Amino acid sequence: MTTLRSLLNETGLPKNEARMILAHLLEIHLQLPRSALLTHDGMELSDPFIEEWRLLEQGRLKGEPIAYLIGKRGFHTIELIVGPGVLIPRPETELLVDLGLDELQRILNNQNSLYESECLLTALDLGTGSGAIALAIASSQPKVTVVATDASQAALDIAQQNAMRLKLSDRVSFCLGNWYAALHALGSPSCHFDLILSNPPYIQGDDPHLSEGDLRFEPPGALTDFGSGLTCLTAIIDGALAYLKPGGLLAVEHGFDQSPAVLERLALAGFQGITPHRDLSGHWRVASGRKPI
Ligand code: GLN
Repeated sequence: MTTLRSLLNETGLPKNEARMILAHLLEIHLQLPRSALLTHDGMELSDPFIEEWRLLEQGRLKGEPIAYLIGKRGFHTIELIVGPGVLIPRPETELLVDLGLDELQRILNNQNSLYESECLLTALDLGTGSGAIALAIASSQPKVTVVATDASQAALDIAQQNAMRLKLSDRVSFCLGNWYAALHALGSPSCHFDLILSNPPYIQGDDPHLSEGDLRFEPPGALTDFGSGLTCLTAIIDGALAYLKPGGLLAVEHGFDQSPAVLERLALAGFQGITPHRDLSGHWRVASGRKPI
C-alpha cells in the first residue's frame, strides 16, 4: 500500500522539498490542507495521485524549480501563479514591497483627511514578471492604483492571470514594453507616480550562478542584462525623475555587491535622501532615493 509516509520514506528528494510537492498534490487531488501530511500520513493514495507524484519527483530530481513544478509560489502576503515564462519571486524582494508600502502609508498619514477619499495613490512596477511587486502592493494597500510593465508578453499574460485570481484587476494595469517606453500607451497625466519600484535583471552576464540551480530554468532576460549587471538599473534610475511626482520615491533591488554603484548612480541622476537597505541575510539589496521637491 502506498501512503504519504511511504512516499516520504523512499524519495531521493530532501524531505522539505518532497513535503512541498505532496502538500500541493493533497490540495489539488483531495482538497486537503498541508497538515494532512501529518494527520493522514497512513491513508492509501490513488493511482493518479501517485503517478503525478512520480512525474513531479522526477522533474525535481532533474533540477526543475519546485515553483514551476507546482505552478505557484507564496510572496509577501499573496500566492502567485508562476511558470517558465517568469522569474520566481524571491523572499529578498519582499523588502522592496515593504519599503513601498511604508512610503504609501507615510503619504496617507500626511494627507489632509478632508481630501483623503479623493486622493488615490499611484505606483509603478517596472519589469513586473509574475506581477509579484505590483500585486503585493495593491493587495496590501487598497488606496493605490498600480501600473506594471514588462517587455515580455508571456510574463504579462501570467501577471494578468494573477491579477484576476487576486481580484486586483481594477487597480493594477499592465503595459508591454521596455522600462518607461511601456508607458507611452498611457496618457501623460497617468504618468506621474508617488512611487516607482523595480527588481530588474541585475546579474552580470558572465556570472557562473546563471548556470546553477533554479536560475538555469528561469528566463535569462529576467535575470541578467548580458553585460555589467548595471545596464537596466542605470536606465531605470536615469529615467525615473521624469515619471515621479515631486518628493516621489524610487526604490530598486540590486545585487549584493552593487550597492556603491547604484547609490552613486542615484546621486548622479539628482536624487535626494539616497538610502541603502539591507535584506534579511544582511546584504545591501535595495537602494532608494527621492525626487527633489
Ligand atoms: N535575486 C535574483 C537572484 O540572485 C536575481 C533577480 C534579478 O536579477 N532581479 O537569483
